Parts: sequence; C-alpha cells; structure tokens
Amino acid sequence: MDLSLYNTMTRTIEPFVPLKNGVVGMYCCGPTVYNYAHIGNLKTYVFEDVLRRTLEYDGYTVNHVMNITDVGHLTDDGDDGEDKMVKSAKEKGLSVYEIAQMYTDAFFEDIDALHIKRPSIACKATDHIQDMIDLIKRLEAKGHTYRAGGNVYFSIDTFPRYGALARLNLEELQSGARIDIDLNKKNPKDFVLWFTQSKFENQVMVWDSPWGKGYPGWHIECSAMSMKYLGDTFDIHCGGIDHVPVHHTNEIAQSEAATGKKWVNYWVHGEFLINETGKMSKSKGEFLTLSRLREKGYDPMDFRYFCLGGHYRSQLVFSWQSMDSAKNARKNLIKQIQSIKKITSEPAQKLSDAALSYQKSFVEHLNNDLHTPRGLAVLWTLLKDETLPGDQKLASLYEFDKILGLGLTDIASESVQEFVLPKEIQDLVDERAKAKRAKNYHRADELRVIVEKSGYTLKDTADGTVITKIM
Ligand code: AMP
Ligand code: ZN
Repeated sequence: MDLSLYNTMTRTIEPFVPLKNGVVGMYCCGPTVYNYAHIGNLKTYVFEDVLRRTLEYDGYTVNHVMNITDVGHLTDDGDDGEDKMVKSAKEKGLSVYEIAQMYTDAFFEDIDALHIKRPSIACKATDHIQDMIDLIKRLEAKGHTYRAGGNVYFSIDTFPRYGALARLNLEELQSGARIDIDLNKKNPKDFVLWFTQSKFENQVMVWDSPWGKGYPGWHIECSAMSMKYLGDTFDIHCGGIDHVPVHHTNEIAQSEAATGKKWVNYWVHGEFLINETGKMSKSKGEFLTLSRLREKGYDPMDFRYFCLGGHYRSQLVFSWQSMDSAKNARKNLIKQIQSIKKITSEPAQKLSDAALSYQKSFVEHLNNDLHTPRGLAVLWTLLKDETLPGDQKLASLYEFDKILGLGLTDIASESVQEFVLPKEIQDLVDERAKAKRAKNYHRADELRVIVEKSGYTLKDTADGTVITKIM
C-alpha cells in the first residue's frame, strides 16, 4: 500500500518514494536535555513514532536518527537567553554533564513508557563536536561564513534559496524595523556556527577549534549528525512546527551550502500541543510532564491514546477533561478486549475477508498522511461488528496495534487480572515507603521508576499505595 505524506516544503500531500528501495532514512530533532520533556514534546515524538511504525508496516527498514542536544548553552539563535544547562546544574547542585545525563535518561524512560520505539541511532551533540567543526570548515572554504566579534557566522546572502521551507520574504524582513541585538551580523537572519565569545561567563562546555576555544551554534549539530549517519541526501526530516522558520531553515542552508545537493526529500512537521493559556514551552518553566500525568492517575497509554485521537497536523488542546475522555475510551477498549478474551483468547491465524477489509481501510487511513483518528474510528467499528467472530477481532486489533502502539496484545483476560505482586516488586514498594518516611524523596522517586519500569503503576492514596499492573 502506498504512503502519502504532507511535505512542508511543497505544502502538498505527496506519494512517498524512498531514495533506496525498501530503506528509509529518517531524522528527527531530539530533546534539549536541561529539563524533562513536556507533554507537547512528547506529542511530537508520538507522531514521529506513528510515522516510523507506518513505514515499517509498509515493509520499509527505517534508519531512525535522533540527536540529543546536550550542549546546553543555547536553545535559540540569539545567544540572548540564559545558559539553561548551567542554570539547571546550579539549581540541582550537579555538573552540566550530570544534568544532561539525568534528563537524557528521563527522556528515554518517558518514550519507553509511551511505546515510542527508540531511534536506531540516538546521538549526543557533545560526541560529535569534531563533525560540526569539519562541516563549518567546509562552509568556510566555500565562502559561506564570516568572522565577527570572535564568532563564526553563516551568511545567508551566500545561499539564494534561504527561507524556501518557511516561504520567508527576505526583502520584507530586511527592510522591516527589526533591531537585532547582535550587531556583528551582516544580515539579521545570519546565524552563529561557532561561538568563542558569549555573554555567559565561566563556560564549562568548550572545545578547541580553528576559531578558538568555544562551542557550536544551535543548528549545526543536526546538519552534522544527520549527514554523518544518513548521507548527504536522505528521505525524511521531522520535528515540531515551531522549527520551520528558524531551526530547519538554517539546517537546510548549512547542509545544502556545504554539499551543493538537495538535503532532505520530505519535511514532516507536527502541530503543537497547547493548553488553555497557549503554547507549552520548556523555557516558560511551567509545563506538564508524563510523571505529572501519572501522579494524577493517568497511564502513559492514556496520553498516547489522546495524541492518536487528533491528526498530527492539527493543534491538540490539552485539558484534564479531554485526558479523562481518552482514559475512558481506552478503558472501554480494554474491557471490550477482555470480554472477547473470555470467549476466545487466541487471535485467528488468518484474517477472514471481512477482517481483511477492516485492515485495508485502517491501513489506508494511516497511509493517507497518518490519519490516526480515522484509524481509531475503524477500530471501534470493527469492535461493534456483531458478525465478526472474536478471534478475528483480536487478530485485527493486534495488527492495528503494530502502528497504534497501545499495547493491545498485552492486555490480559479478566480472569488473570487479579495479580499477585512478585516478591521483588513488593520489596521495592516497601523500600520506597521507607524512603518516603525518611523524607528521602529522591530515592523514593528512583524506586517508583524501577517499579513502573517493571510494569506496575503506583498511586499514593490516604489508605496507602495502590499498585496496579500495567496492561
Ligand atoms: P525541544 O526539546 O524543546 O527542542 O523540543 C523537542 C521537540 O518537541 C521538537 O521537535 C519541537 O518542535 C517539539 N515541541 C516543542 N514544543 C512543543 C509543543 N508544545 N507541542 C508539540 N511539539 C512541541
Ligand atoms: Zn534539528
């Protein structure tokens, strides 16, 4: 079945044709690790996971590369924010490297809990500084850079296609009243490739380079690492919609200026998760994490279900009410699977014609620019179909779940719901209670994570801790 994807570059839905038969190179901008991922970030990773799973369902091998932004000084272009990694390290009394490692681990815990497949390659920026230096050197040799105020800048006037992705009107931007705080820039849209001068004092993360001791600009890591692992041209680049006007625009400029080739064939962007007060952002400080949702009694799968209920190119508005609807819908789904399992616990070996037509329609919706809401609608219609035997329903659901990733194959039948807590888990729960009594909340949180990773959720209530097996 043929996949079609909306390409931000052309603003149209296009048939997907890979560069190499049967193999897809896919790069996704990863997390900045000076804080936990918020649920907006996680919405983006869920959509990217659905894309990967759909490609795999269609028979492709996906080389999925993701960067980990652990060079923490900058998360925007202007060097005008605060040094977020240092700020976080000071607050926690840890080194910047410890901070990066702590939040990288937390990120992987979150994506595991959400059944987001881990990237084939997750690469840290700090492990690829030399690749970035080499790329800047290539840009310098081709005349795309200039030095000013101790820093190396990319000159966008040397790259005529600049801004094509975001359809920027450069003349308008130039003549506009924009006052850039960086007076070193020849063009306000120029951006830093390498910093040796920063307003931040006592930089910890600095490296030697031909331009002096310093650190890379924000955008160069994605160009350097994606090309290292996927080649000069690859199939798909993903990210959140916020990255279109600056980050991805600058990534394209650096990559294509260096190689002289087209860099990416399909640009796929997910819309934002917003809350009632507007966009959710890390730098604003106040945001919701997966742990917070868990504390409120939601299973990570409730959040995944919530994300799948909207199309990735539509904004998703978060509210506790909509989380409750997702939770109830998933509960209902689990109940239906359990009642099928009361009669037949084994899925059919072969799909009947009726089941095949449901499967065809489900896959068509997913292949049509990842239409998960329509895919879920097919799932519910199938469940309601009284003419379809239980084993056919189970086999179909298991098939759909290869893309949905809701863990439907692991749902136990009702009779085995009453579980006995294994001794090793009980010991961890007891140790956690002890740590809490001793007000050692750090240890208590660590133990919670270990227990949850073993497939249980913990909820502290007035009557003690309630333990549920994750299904
Ligand atoms: P960050 O860790 O902030 O660099 O973001 C990681 C990914 O999450 C990027 O692809 C961003 O575009 C995306 N992102 C950031 N904020 C949101 C949001 N509120 N909703 C959806 N995606 C987001
Ligand atoms: Zn990137």
